[in-house]
Amino acid sequence: MAADSAVALVVVDVQNDFLPGGALAVPQGDAVIPVINRIARRYEQVVLTQDWHPADHVSFASRHPGRAPFDTITLPYGAQTLWPDHCVQGTRGAALADPLEVPHAQLILRKGWHREVDSYSAFLEADRATRTGLDGWLTARGVQEVHVCGLATDFCVLWTALDARRFGLRAAVIEPACRGIDLGGSLARAWEEMARAGIARLAA
Ligand SMILES: [Zn+2]
Repeated sequence: MAADSAVALVVVDVQNDFLPGGALAVPQGDAVIPVINRIARRYEQVVLTQDWHPADHVSFASRHPGRAPFDTITLPYGAQTLWPDHCVQGTRGAALADPLEVPHAQLILRKGWHREVDSYSAFLEADRATRTGLDGWLTARGVQEVHVCGLATDFCVLWTALDARRFGLRAAVIEPACRGIDLGGSLARAWEEMARAGIARLAA
């Protein structure tokens, strides 16, 4: 994969709120940072994503009286897990982690900015219809394969890798550069689902 411009690295949501001490901390989320800093140098094309919500985003439990974080509700587009308020636009929690050192990344893609629609995937919002434009950006640059890493394995990494396949790209997930949230077995299910979709599981 070294410096092969047909392979892009997608670094998902390495933001303060997903790190220990953050509003929606992923266990050991900070452990991915040195791994990503090392492997990112191998890729000419790098995309960083940022979860980027309005303060009253539909995925926040605080928007739904009587509901608590990690409950699941039904929205017009389907099931939605509710989360603590996190990654609110322009806040410190939404900022990329300071120790992340990927200065050559060319695109920072912000997702989840529609008030009434969540977006785990960097390609398609949770209504499964609204495109972020990432597929077109990658295709225009000759990318045929993406390697996905970051947070969290069983949500935004999973959905991003599955959608890469949906848009006809080869896809792999770099396991040591990811950490999961694991709600009710979601991490094991995520790896199974990715295997079924033909997504490779790479060591760093
Ligand atoms: Zn979010």
